[in-house]
Amino acid sequence: AKAAGRNTACFFDPAMQSAINARVALEREIREALARGEFLLYYQPQTDSAGNTIGMEALVRWRHPQRGLVSPDYFIRLAEETGLILPLGLWVLESACRQLREWGGQRGGGNWPVSVNVSASQFRHPQFVELVLKVVRDSGIDPRRLKLELTESVLVENPEETIAKMARLREAGVGFSLDDFGTGYSSLSYLKRLPLDQIKIDRSFVRDVLTDPNDAAIARTILALGQILGLQVVAEGVESGAQRDFLESLGCHAYQGYFFSHPMPPERM
Ligand code: C2E
Ligand code: CA
Ligand code: CA
Ligand code: CA
Repeated sequence: AKAAGRNTACFFDPAMQSAINARVALEREIREALARGEFLLYYQPQTDSAGNTIGMEALVRWRHPQRGLVSPDYFIRLAEETGLILPLGLWVLESACRQLREWGGQRGGGNWPVSVNVSASQFRHPQFVELVLKVVRDSGIDPRRLKLELTESVLVENPEETIAKMARLREAGVGFSLDDFGTGYSSLSYLKRLPLDQIKIDRSFVRDVLTDPNDAAIARTILALGQILGLQVVAEGVESGAQRDFLESLGCHAYQGYFFSHPMPPERM
């Protein structure tokens, strides 16, 4: 801190300093929140066109003693930058597996998978595969009911290693979804080689799909791609029946969004 103070002395910017202080404070708070058990998971169903549950995505929340329920947009990025995503991500994985076992054969005896978001920095950890397999084993769940959601960022960096890691988990039964599809830079030839089960059309293309012909064309293209590659395609952020109907006319059979259900704590489901 001393060295930084010397380097920045002649450009001292109070706004920047207070931003740094806020980051340091938030980092400490996240660490304490983990120790105090202030994180919790909400779940949002994935459905077929008729609204039947075909999956469930775990979405982390922070029950902050003063600020109330805090959205992941507020803390995931910093958790990634500070490495705190490793213990937080482990907690999410353990907690989702525990919940899955609790649901067991309940909820209409559905056999649907639970999807867990995995940050690139988590996935890149050298022990990631072993860690996931250990959590699955310890929790006693069927590994085929766990799906990991990766974003394109993890896939571009080190393709060979990524494919090898995914393959090891897939061999054990764990599934993979490519999140926020269309917002990153994966090449199509590369996509073909990934052991994926699902791709998710990013919410940004679904929002104006009824009015913006470009978004409609993108959604149609992703759905066609999914069909060619034999992947399930989930449309994210579906907020109206009209969006659902239109996406269905493009060949979509899987949806996630407020139209069907908001994310909810498991005790309310
Ligand atoms: P995401 O993985 O793309 O998750 C979908 C987000 O869209 C969720 O926001 C969900 O609440 C929201 N959403 C669902 N349906 C609708 C809809 O119809 N309309 C609108 N406007 N939004 C909808 P949430 O829960 O705030 O999560 C934000 C992001 O934080 C997630 O985006 C994901 O990238 C990250 N995240 C959440 N939980 C975890 C986690 O456990 N680990 C990691 N690494 N990241 C997480
Ligand atoms: Ca996701
Ligand atoms: Ca997403
Ligand atoms: Ca997103």
